[in-house]
Amino acid sequence: MAFLLYIFQIYLGSFYENEFRCTFTGIELQVMITVPQAIQLVEKHTIPTSNTINIPTTGSLGYVLAKDVVSPINMPPFKQSAMDGYALGSTNQTEFSLVGEIKAGDAHMPEIKEGEAIRIFTGAPVPPKAMAVVMQEKVDASGTHIKLHEPIVANANIRPMGEQIKTGDIALQKGTKITASGIGYLATLGITHVEVYKKPSVGIITTGNELVPPGQSLKPGQIYESNSSMLTAALYQSGITEVSCYKVVDEYDATRNIIESAVQKHEMILISGGISVGDYDFVGKALRELNVTEIFYKVKQKPGKPLFYATKEDKNIFALPGNPASSLSCFYIYVLPALLKYSGFSEYHLQRSKGVAQSKYIKKGQRAEFLKAICKEGKVIILDGQASSMLRSFALSNALVYLPEDITEVNPGDTLEVINLP
Ligand code: AMP
Ligand code: MG
Repeated sequence: MAFLLYIFQIYLGSFYENEFRCTFTGIELQVMITVPQAIQLVEKHTIPTSNTINIPTTGSLGYVLAKDVVSPINMPPFKQSAMDGYALGSTNQTEFSLVGEIKAGDAHMPEIKEGEAIRIFTGAPVPPKAMAVVMQEKVDASGTHIKLHEPIVANANIRPMGEQIKTGDIALQKGTKITASGIGYLATLGITHVEVYKKPSVGIITTGNELVPPGQSLKPGQIYESNSSMLTAALYQSGITEVSCYKVVDEYDATRNIIESAVQKHEMILISGGISVGDYDFVGKALRELNVTEIFYKVKQKPGKPLFYATKEDKNIFALPGNPASSLSCFYIYVLPALLKYSGFSEYHLQRSKGVAQSKYIKKGQRAEFLKAICKEGKVIILDGQASSMLRSFALSNALVYLPEDITEVNPGDTLEVINLP
């Protein structure tokens, strides 16, 4: 009977590309969830952190502000010249007598009267009574006098005090992602420290007896371990630098112990390999033993079908399939959004766009696919070598084409959904 159920399971399983679980009480249909469902579930179960840290503004690139930043000063802090030229005591005439000079950084403030001009330079303080600044290109100057080519309007080329922001106004709001320009802006206001959301500490566990680090010579049956360096680099690129890597052989106790200790130490745990159905894949069993809350196992996608996602309190645990291209696809589609949402970002998915297919591609099977591609000026080239064990196409790509389940083939001229890689 069990054998018949097993055959039935294989037949239907491959027909629908769904999964069937055989239990002693009967057959339990375990329909693989779809890509959009998996994306939503990760989103739903990822809780933005409430942990904040106060860090130097200079080191805050890529963090999200956890508090409004209030300007402690007016910017500019004084009435300021926007040009190299002449500050004018009046605007109803075109000839002026020259009475002094102010350069950037000067603190002295010469008197200026109607009919008088003062030589002035960009960034220098403008005397309170000056009515305008004229560009030096628009003036004929002798040693003691200047003559304007044309009349000038009041306040021309003067930056009023507090023109950009006034003392006590909000400079940047809570929730803003800090960019290079943001760091510059905060520096102009003299802000040395900011309160930001803490980024997660990430533990990467690689499993597999066959794996050796690059630098050693390969013995028979061995391959180089690539997922830890690849995922670490992808994390760094996303601004996550608190990363620790662990490795474990394909043994149950060792696997369970290393996962247990990583869950204690880190907020986000990425496990590579050992999550499939082989006799030496112990990650699923270990995770279930550790009483994590399983959110899903297996997604109707290629590559990356055996993706496992679980939570433990507010921690996220992803068990990524070991094939390198599967691991990295799953990272970009599921892990990265979780990391960014956790870190306070309001936009956390990679940007999607449309592109026009340049070649034909036949999709086998009913799973949705993520295809390594080059997208340039709206044209999409799907690369050769899409197998999940291969990284060459990924290394050359700048995008993933998303083919939903119902698409069976791509023809030149078709509009494709493109996920832009960072
Ligand atoms: P697994 O998911 O453990 O069954 O592994 C699937 C395939 O990916 C196997 O061919 C492994 O050798 C390979 N693989 C697993 N982990 C890694 C890794 N960290 N680096 C490179 N290849 C790996
Ligand atoms: Mg393995």
